[in-house]
Amino acid sequence: MSKKIVLLPGDGIGNEVIQAAKDVLTAVAEEFNHTFSYQTEEIGGSAVDNHGTPLPKQTVDACKEADAILLGAVGGPKWDSYPSHLRPEKGLLGIRKTLGLFANLRPVKGFKHLLHASPLKEDVVNGSDLLIVRELTGGIYFGTPSERQNDGQSVVDTLAYSKEEIERIVDKAFQCAQLRRKHLTSVDKANVLESSKLWREVVEEKKASYPDVAVEHLLVDAAAMKLITNPNQFDVIVTENMFGDILSDEASVLTGSLGMLPSASLREDGVGLYEPVHGSAPDIAGHGVANPLAMILSTALMLRHTFHLEHEAQLIESAVKEVLDQGYHTPDLQLANGKKIGTEAMTEKIVEFIKSESASKSIMSCYA
Ligand code: NAD
Repeated sequence: MSKKIVLLPGDGIGNEVIQAAKDVLTAVAEEFNHTFSYQTEEIGGSAVDNHGTPLPKQTVDACKEADAILLGAVGGPKWDSYPSHLRPEKGLLGIRKTLGLFANLRPVKGFKHLLHASPLKEDVVNGSDLLIVRELTGGIYFGTPSERQNDGQSVVDTLAYSKEEIERIVDKAFQCAQLRRKHLTSVDKANVLESSKLWREVVEEKKASYPDVAVEHLLVDAAAMKLITNPNQFDVIVTENMFGDILSDEASVLTGSLGMLPSASLREDGVGLYEPVHGSAPDIAGHGVANPLAMILSTALMLRHTFHLEHEAQLIESAVKEVLDQGYHTPDLQLANGKKIGTEAMTEKIVEFIKSESASKSIMSCYA
């Protein structure tokens, strides 16, 4: 397989974790005879410094030609006081919008050795392994600007969805459920909102096309509660933009570690932008201690959802589990009796596992 990947390191620890992703992908390419070509472009604060804009045209053009995009992180104190059009996050929002990335996927899995870092009781989070599929380009955040009003006394925001927009995200969620434990929870507020009523109707219509997937509907308030009282009941959750924004951040604390959470933002044709959930961590940038695992797990998502290389994706996920099981961890992860290592050494451990002869035999899906 031959694929073109655009690398957008961005700012802070972005460079360090993108290098880790590239090293891991190089090992996968060698082991499985794939050809991945890379083109590095700028985004965020570094792009403001070098090109006067957080999203240079050259970056947009390269991303439009790419099969997939890997992004590190953007932002940092240097640019905090810059005017809004020069803020690093404008680059990120701009590239998501320009590419029409409508589906945001956030897997959350509790790794055995990290459960103690969760603010929830270990027996509650133990075994949790869920995927939130959030609609990313519609809903109340994108209400028509002319309908958004604020006269100082009253305000109006508009929550609009077309049936087509709901159908494509629901299809994506059913497809993700088919790759996992085949259970889909659709989250809405159908007892109040017209948009949620249509959402629920679409899910009901679509389920006939995915007879192997069990479906349940949950109101968003109940979902928020169950996510922290019984996360094990969830496999795939699908929901609209604002509910997904809130629920995915809530779910991210289950694992107790920001450095472990990958994400994907996908277009209908499968092209995707893959990035860790964490930011640019300016406090540790350049010290060689950034945890590369969220970025590395994002590459696994890329192999699964854009390149349809499930075996290779599972190999990376198994490598992460194995290396943690061996006690290796970066300083952000507190492992009792663990062996603390930096970004490069952690990446080498993952690469070693991928290259080990036993790797292909020991694959177990730990992160579908
Ligand atoms: P952050 O995620 O960068 O850092 C929060 C804390 O977690 C810090 O102590 C940091 O050292 C630690 N941390 C984060 N990722 C880590 C990793 N991989 N390994 C080890 N430790 C890690 O969030 P913040 O401090 O609120 O934001 C810093 C900058 O990042 C801001 O400019 C913010 O706007 C930006 N940001 C960018 C994104 C993105 O690019 N998607 C997301 C969030 C924040």
